[in-house]
Amino acid sequence: MEKLIIDARLNEYTMRDPNPNVPYSPAEIGADAAACREAGASIVHYHARDPESGAASNDTELYKAAAREIRSRCDAIIMPTLGASTVVELDDRIGHIEAMAEDDATRADLVPLDLASISLPIWPEGADHVLGDDLVYYNSVGTLKALAARADAVGAKPMTAIWNIASLRLLEAFCKTGVLPNTVFAELFTTEGGLIAGHPGTPRGLQALIDFVPASVDCVWAAACFGANALPLAEMAIEQGGHVAIGLGDFGYPGLGHGEPATNADVIREVVAMASRHGREIATPDEVRERLGLC
Ligand code: ZN
Repeated sequence: MEKLIIDARLNEYTMRDPNPNVPYSPAEIGADAAACREAGASIVHYHARDPESGAASNDTELYKAAAREIRSRCDAIIMPTLGASTVVELDDRIGHIEAMAEDDATRADLVPLDLASISLPIWPEGADHVLGDDLVYYNSVGTLKALAARADAVGAKPMTAIWNIASLRLLEAFCKTGVLPNTVFAELFTTEGGLIAGHPGTPRGLQALIDFVPASVDCVWAAACFGANALPLAEMAIEQGGHVAIGLGDFGYPGLGHGEPATNADVIREVVAMASRHGREIATPDEVRERLGLC
């Protein structure tokens, strides 16, 4: 099997309760990324956050500063997020990626394209009503085509985020019609922790996605789970030739930190140990660049 690609999902919009090791500031993101690279991650994914409060931020300067901090410390492939999930304006979605590309020290290598427009219902365990009345993740076909073209124009390759089987059908259609390259990195997302928009983060929930990864394109897929322990799904991916996207952005991983709150690097080391037990070697960033055709 090919070498394992590990994407460290550093922070998302997850707060430091319960795990205080979620990085917020550019310097924290840079140091955390370097520790994850050292542990075996080849890709690092981050969201800009207010350095003090951790609030979600669309500040281009924070995105740039974090990329600069990462690139000055290590050779990891850099994948910032696009603009906040429920923003519709294209400039607000990808303007920071274009600004980052003006300087080699801050440019993004990969950007996530979520191949679905979906409601984002949140139903915390035991809650007597469903939250998220007005939350819609807007990714029309036209929006996705435009985002893919604008990312490509500044040398950033797409990572496709897969929410359901229909996302995989769209992935195939986009690859076959030139919207996306024929070799494409895809993260198969499952969702737990009250977010019920995706497949369950269970072996059956993930397997349903794996079963529909299109055979007609060169799809390099990784397993991910927002809101629960993704390690069982990581093991499935390792066994089936897939890859792994995991980190404190998705889940706090109590118990992995040897008595202390776990760090992102602790989580990556756990994946590397698991890969070793299954005989999978770990891909370096340069090997992933080659595999995914990144510049
Ligand atoms: Zn993200």
